[in-house]
Amino acid sequence: MKGGKYFDPEIEPMERSHLEKLQMERLQWQLKRCYELSPFYRERFKKAGIKPEDIRSLGEIVHIPPVTKAELREEQVAHPPFGRYVVAPREDWAELHPSTGTTGVPVNTIWSHGDVKAIASWTARTMWNFGVRPSDIVQNAFSYGLWIAGMSTHYASQMLKCFVVPIGAAMTERQVDYLLNPGSTVLLCTPSYALHIAERLAHRGISPGDIPLRRGCFGGEGGTEVPATRNKIEEGLGIDAFDYYGLTEIGPTISSECEEKAGLHWVEDHVLIEAINPDTKETCQPGEVGVLVMTHLTKEAVPMIRYWTNDLASLTIEKCACGRTHARSVGGILGRADDMIIYKGAKFYPIQVEKVVRGFSELSDEFRIELAKDERRGTDTCTVVVEQLAEKGETALLAAALKKGLKEELLVTPEVAIKPHGSLERTTFKAKRIVDNRKK
Ligand SMILES: [Zn+2]
Repeated sequence: MKGGKYFDPEIEPMERSHLEKLQMERLQWQLKRCYELSPFYRERFKKAGIKPEDIRSLGEIVHIPPVTKAELREEQVAHPPFGRYVVAPREDWAELHPSTGTTGVPVNTIWSHGDVKAIASWTARTMWNFGVRPSDIVQNAFSYGLWIAGMSTHYASQMLKCFVVPIGAAMTERQVDYLLNPGSTVLLCTPSYALHIAERLAHRGISPGDIPLRRGCFGGEGGTEVPATRNKIEEGLGIDAFDYYGLTEIGPTISSECEEKAGLHWVEDHVLIEAINPDTKETCQPGEVGVLVMTHLTKEAVPMIRYWTNDLASLTIEKCACGRTHARSVGGILGRADDMIIYKGAKFYPIQVEKVVRGFSELSDEFRIELAKDERRGTDTCTVVVEQLAEKGETALLAAALKKGLKEELLVTPEVAIKPHGSLERTTFKAKRIVDNRKK
């Protein structure tokens, strides 16, 4: 392990021109091996009339057609169990990690032994980024096993020489117990689970000042960078809260916030990141929100060449105040392109509803967006369901204020349903925010 301000002082503050040179060398290596060893990629390249040597600069990568999750799924069905984009030989395979299947049949992904090492190393970097140090007690409440984040942060915590509590995303009362004894100093989980743990802590009458926890990093779903959500987590647990992001097809924990809280920092020496306008398919300007498209520069087993993530964010290559030069997504992941809700002609994302709901101290942290059909009128209905904390405020006034807040943020007014605290189901994993009853 290295040390000081950066986990990897040669890579993290690297001059952009040097970083881009490194990326280009790695990209050429990756394109060549995919073309030679993967019939899946070779066919796609031929169809597009491209050879690896035609890509002579990073910008020219846009000529390669993006790969979607649906295409990976089709490929695995046609060529089970892993598709023809596995490039590493069988003896190099180390771990199987399917996607969570939240959007259909899970897609299988393989990590080679080399991939496991690289993942552990970049995850250690992303943890160092938000202030984890060797003496920390890491309470790892990311789901273990098939899901990628539990394993990667576990390996990385070992690499950082931390003391790990490998509890996983379960047993909420014991989460609280371990915060007291041995007194974890770092908590890792989804932001919705962090709020749930904070709720239990308060319920047991434990003040955040009574536990040694000092920071947490929260991923698996968006929200940590929504100011009201971050405040709730920070106040509820008495910590600094940071954002975390990764995805099965590309890899876990490929970006985290630094202590400046200035957006997700990417590990650009391992993954080439683009933001693409979903309508024009052109590269976004710095700061413009688009779909993130990612290319593996070092992945051995199942490299992705221009994977269309469907996750929306902007990119900037402006150097962070922390001195790191890798691209950042300020404001984090803003939603999934397929989570976009179109209601009465307005388009919005669940994260915008979250921003409004979390601004009300009278409401709990849970909410749902319920979509249904008004059969009589033949139109869609959209209801934001929230929970009122028992002792706070008058319900009718609260409903009116919430409607007003939602209208300002969404530019359209959904219906509002206020329920008693505890009505909505809590989750230890990814929160389900949209309930779509229109197709039933
Ligand atoms: Zn920074």
